[in-house]
Order: sequence, then C-alpha cells, then structure tokens
Amino acid sequence: MNTPHDTLAWFVGTPDETDWELVRGATEQEAIDNYLADRGIDPVCEAVADGAASPPDECECEACFSRRSLDAIRAPELDDVPSPTKAQLFDYCMMPCSRCGELASILDGGRVVDTQIVCGDCLTIEERDEDFPR
Ligand SMILES: [Zn+2]
Ligand SMILES: [Zn+2]
Repeated sequence: MNTPHDTLAWFVGTPDETDWELVRGATEQEAIDNYLADRGIDPVCEAVADGAASPPDECECEACFSRRSLDAIRAPELDDVPSPTKAQLFDYCMMPCSRCGELASILDGGRVVDTQIVCGDCLTIEERDEDFPR
C-alpha cells in the first residue's frame, strides 16, 4: 500500500500532445509504469518478461516503444492534493480551451475562468486584466 508520502505527483505524457495525465509514483519510472498501466499497456518490457536482464537497445515492444516517447515532470505542489482542480492541472499541462477547443496553456496566456480553461486568444480584455482566485 502506498502512503501519501511515497506517492509523488507526476505529469506524464508525450511532448506537444494532449495525453498528459497526473499519475502517482515513488519514482519517475514508477509514474510512467502507472501511466502505461492506466492505458492498458503492460509496463514490463516483453524481453524482460521473457527473461532478459534488461530491455534491449531500441526494443520495439509496446512498453519500450511507448516509454521512449513519454516524458515525466514532477508536480511537487500536488503531492498532497488527492484531487487537484482543473486550475492546478492547467499549471502543468495543455488543456482544450472551453470556448474554441484549441489547446490552451499557461504559456500562451491561457487561464482558468470560472473553473473553465480559456486560451489566451479567447479571453476578453476584462478577463485578461482581472486577477482570478485560484
Ligand atoms: Zn521492450
Ligand atoms: Zn480559445
């Protein structure tokens, strides 16, 4: 059983994609394993499952293939937050804008308005200036 203190919060996903997800794990490796398992992918390399000591270079099994495209970043603010709000998640990953459907991110000026993600282009001037409580 994991206790809150050995399950760190991570964001795992493919760079420039929308598949980022908050997962928990004691290590980056474990976080990625959990991410794969969530998607129905066995995180154990097929070669390792067959007895190899470690995954071969350039292994093309589903676990290794998926793992190579994934990135994991730590989200220390969320370690003790069991169900983060959209606003907290939006700090870490791109999410679809509730108005135009395009991907929004903090970096392109997006923000959270009344719990809805709004991209930089869709914000009204008033919204842009207003400081929303998080
Ligand atoms: Zn493999
Ligand atoms: Zn938008």
